[in-house]
Amino acid sequence: MLLTITSTHTKASDLSYLLHKRPDKCQQVELSAGKAHIFYTANSEEKCTVALLLDIDPVGLVRNDKGPAGDGFLLEQYVNDRPYVASSLMSHAIAKAFSSAMNGTCKDKPELVEEVLPLEVKLAVLPVKGGEVFLRKLLEPLGYEVMAQQHELDANFPEWGKSRYFTVTMKNRLKLKELLSHLYVLIPVMDNAKHYWIGEHEIEKLVSKGKGWLEVHPEKKQITQRYLKSMPAYTNQALVALMQQDATENTEEEGTKEVESGEKEVLNLHAARLLAAKEELLASGAKRVLDLGCGEGRLLRLLVKEKQFEMILGMDVSYRSLELAKQKLKLDRFSPTQLERIQLIQGSLTYRDKRLEGYDAAALVEVIEHLDTDRLKTLEKVLFEYSRPKTIVITTPNAEYNTQYETLSAGSFRHADHRFEWTRQEFEAWAKGLAIKYGYSFLCKPVGPLHELVGAPSQMAVFSMK
Ligand code: SAH
Repeated sequence: MLLTITSTHTKASDLSYLLHKRPDKCQQVELSAGKAHIFYTANSEEKCTVALLLDIDPVGLVRNDKGPAGDGFLLEQYVNDRPYVASSLMSHAIAKAFSSAMNGTCKDKPELVEEVLPLEVKLAVLPVKGGEVFLRKLLEPLGYEVMAQQHELDANFPEWGKSRYFTVTMKNRLKLKELLSHLYVLIPVMDNAKHYWIGEHEIEKLVSKGKGWLEVHPEKKQITQRYLKSMPAYTNQALVALMQQDATENTEEEGTKEVESGEKEVLNLHAARLLAAKEELLASGAKRVLDLGCGEGRLLRLLVKEKQFEMILGMDVSYRSLELAKQKLKLDRFSPTQLERIQLIQGSLTYRDKRLEGYDAAALVEVIEHLDTDRLKTLEKVLFEYSRPKTIVITTPNAEYNTQYETLSAGSFRHADHRFEWTRQEFEAWAKGLAIKYGYSFLCKPVGPLHELVGAPSQMAVFSMK
């Protein structure tokens, strides 16, 4: 069976660095019952495709006790689908062939590890117990666009109907390590079989490979059950571990939230920013609005209540935040008509994205300071040149106000993930540069209680197209 991964990133050939596999050589790794071959079928700046081809030895499967038990029918141990389909052997091959990429290490270009890439996977042939509906239930919540071709049981006997075998193409924008973890966990889950005995260490593997996505996956329970081959004791243990992981992550997030003198003040300040952004969007007369870097959807929750907004699109690079946004917005309770008004998409503001075109206004609430300066330059182009809404509202902390936070030492930022924090003058100079370059007028405003010397804790720029 064959797995291909294609990147069409601006520098697609970076994929070979990330995978630690040279594009000019065909390489092999030994598996418990056969071999995996790794080679490239395309390698240019526009498109890079790596192939992982499994060559399974059916006799080796029997010898190593890795195939079916043989209680199904005579010769089942020798005559079965295992050498021809993607199964847990494929997961094993992925982990062995692409171990560094899966663990998120890249010696030569470490910055690539965290990069969100446009990736396409083709898997032939994938057995799915539960059919296309189940396949989509597993992949779509993770943001994949799925195309599935179901094969006939036997082309000579169409009356026998369809088989459980699919050729699947799935596309997404995500980090390579995330993609590999999804494949590693989900291939055996779809197949609903494993080539080895399930031991307790499988729980640990599932919890670590599922980190960041499985805790919040709507099919978490079934994935866990199938992955652990429906062994209730293991399944419960894993579900508890996943729940704990989710809880720790949430507290970590809270812990790294802005340093303010009191929790209430943080909430008030953030509420003030959201309200200010909403008021600007309303005042602009916008009907179609974007919330870029929407996070858990705090602004979206305010926007959906306003009838003026006919179309609302929230975008964030973090799948996990979007999942939380979906839950907090309670999208599952929306009627089909209400759902037509709001869309949540995963994407990065550092790539030109056609989905962001044709909107009247955009808000970026506390987003820009999360980007490195070179990425910020790309964001500027994406927003002001390509997406180009008539009104753009941007908020960011006012660094001068940091002296008012007793717990914040001089020179530190309010949030662990901030790449910079600007003074009022720096922000205004940045806004002015953009306004001139892209033909907008702008106004900078304070957000939050004004201090006579250092200004307000947050600041907002409102751009209007000339
Ligand atoms: N606007 C939200 C969240 C602010 S936190 C609110 O006010 O509550 C910053 C958000 O920006 C995070 O959710 C983060 O995932 C997102 N983000 C960071 N870099 C991004 C990028 N390149 N593209 C899109 N979103 C990004």
